[in-house]
Formats: sequence, structure tokens, C-alpha cells
Amino acid sequence: MNTVRIEDAEKCKLGKKPVIILGAGAAGLGAAGALALADYPFYIIEQEDGPGGLVRTDSVGDFWFDRAGHFIHSRTRRFRSEIRNSGVKLEQHRRVSAVIIED
Ligand SMILES: Cc1cc2nc3c(=O)[nH]c(=O)nc-3n(C[C@H](O)[C@H](O)[C@H](O)COP(=O)(O)OP(=O)(O)OC[C@H]3O[C@@H](n4cnc5c(N)ncnc54)[C@H](O)[C@@H]3O)c2cc1C
Repeated sequence: MNTVRIEDAEKCKLGKKPVIILGAGAAGLGAAGALALADYPFYIIEQEDGPGGLVRTDSVGDFWFDRAGHFIHSRTRRFRSEIRNSGVKLEQHRRVSAVIIED
């Protein structure tokens, strides 16, 4: 298990108990972002060797495979502004392949 972020000891001294977040998938990272904005100390405990969960991308040889998520469903103004404020850099890609299943 990896601790991705360590609680801020100074905040604990001020009486804010740290929140434990299990899993650094989209939900866990979203919760961490909200806690950081609220200036709350937190730990994220992730069982894998990095964050992302279902939205990680694995490489095999020269190929890259999205585990699951590959496009963003939400187009709300709030979601866009949260992504912008988080510092995450998104890239837009043109679809160049598709899986077609025919009878
Ligand atoms: C095939 C597929 C395609 C999808 N495509 C899209 C898409 O194109 N666009 C889109 O917006 N959404 C898509 N989704 C949905 C999206 O991927 C999920 O809704 C989202 O990633 C779920 O995030 P999560 O944080 O809830 O869970 P997860 O991503 O599963 O994260 C959970 C994390 O918790 C960790 N964890 C679990 N148990 C423990 C434990 N006991 N201790 C420590 N760590 C633990 C896991 O290792 C993992 O990192 C897709 C889903 C699937 C299955």
C-alpha cells in the first residue's frame, strides 16, 4: 500500500482530524480535491502502485490501453471549472480507431 499524501501535521494541531480516503480512483481523488479546498488534512491509501483506478492507462510494449474510461461524460460548467482549477492538463484526441462487431 502507498500513502500518496501525508496529513499536514500543523492542521492536526489546529484540531482538524485527518480524513482517510480508501482508493485513489476518480472518486477518491475527487474527495481529496474537495478536502484540500476545504483545507482539511487527509491520507489517500491506494493498493496499487499509482493513482487512477479504472481510468489508468497501461502500456504493453509500444501499445497503450485505457483500462476503462477514455472520454469525459460530464460537460457541466462546474466540472470543467474543477478540472481547470485542479491543474490537470487534459488533451483532446481525434478518434482514429473503432471496434466494429458484425454478424
Ligand atoms: C469498461 C468501462 C469503460 C468506462 N468508460 C468510461 C468513459 O469513457 N468515461 C467515463 O467518464 N467513465 C467511464 N467509465 C466509468 C469510470 O471509469 C468509473 O465510473 C470511475 O473510474 C470509477 O471511479 P472510482 O474512483 O469510483 O473507482 P475505481 O476507479 O475503481 O477506483 C477505486 C480505487 O480504489 C482502490 N482500492 C480498492 N480497494 C482498496 C483497498 N481495500 N485499499 C486501498 N485501495 C483500494 C483501487 O485499486 C482503485 O484504484 C467506464 C467504466 C468501465 C468499467
